[in-house]
Amino acid sequence: MKECKLATGEPKLVVESLGVVIGGGRPVVIAGPCSVEDPEMIRRVASFLAEEVRDELGVRNLILRGGAWKPRTHPYSFQGHGLKALEWLKQAGEEVGIPVATEVMDPRDVEQAAELADFLWVGARNMQNTPLLRELGRSGKPVLLKRHFGAKIGEWLCAAEYILAEGNERVALIERGTRGFNEYARFSLDLTVIPVIKKVSRLPLVVDVSHPAGERSLVPPLAYGSLAAGADGIMIEIHPNPDKALSDAKQQLPLEDFKVLASGLKEAGLL
Ligand code: PEP
Ligand code: MN
Repeated sequence: MKECKLATGEPKLVVESLGVVIGGGRPVVIAGPCSVEDPEMIRRVASFLAEEVRDELGVRNLILRGGAWKPRTHPYSFQGHGLKALEWLKQAGEEVGIPVATEVMDPRDVEQAAELADFLWVGARNMQNTPLLRELGRSGKPVLLKRHFGAKIGEWLCAAEYILAEGNERVALIERGTRGFNEYARFSLDLTVIPVIKKVSRLPLVVDVSHPAGERSLVPPLAYGSLAAGADGIMIEIHPNPDKALSDAKQQLPLEDFKVLASGLKEAGLL
């Protein structure tokens, strides 16, 4: 079998867009709700991030995340508001000058998503959706590729290779936990993956600290641990009123709790 050599070895790649740099030394924070539920809530999150996290705490390497198309286990759960949610996200980010990221699941949505979002991510469930990966490779947009919860490192890197092979070098990886033996958390976050990816891969690595946790109280330790272990950033779900969230209600942090976490990470020299 041929090696996936574009994703491995040297030189290291840095993903840059609109002043945000992933893999350049300063960790990135990708924060926002699981789903963009309505225009007001995403505006509220955007202005909170701009005023209280960027301007007050000085966390500048910042991306606003928000799901428009949601990959749900249950077909009757909220599936996201689609394209109109992406328009609300873009507008909210533009108003405060923070770049935005969203998930794409369907290759047919890539063109429109690439016009509206600054960073596109591939969710865990679509890590091996190869037509999607190729389309994202051709989009020229920065792509963040999540690891499937049952994928080996080699499979993850070969999935990244599909994007790289189309000539798009703006690719970063997101670890988000795998199925393990800890039934008290949603998934198992293996910190070993951080130094391993640093050693074998050219791609920057962000850790999603919300989805492995599955519940709010577990999120902060995973954020400290991931950054201390050398991750190039964290992705984290935050919501103005998490208990009323339409998806992932238990794990999203209220805005004020995220501010406490971000300021603690700053004080510890991790952000
Ligand atoms: C998400 O980021 O909202 C999400 C669905 O994550 P994952 O694909 O890692 O489950
Ligand atoms: Mn989620």
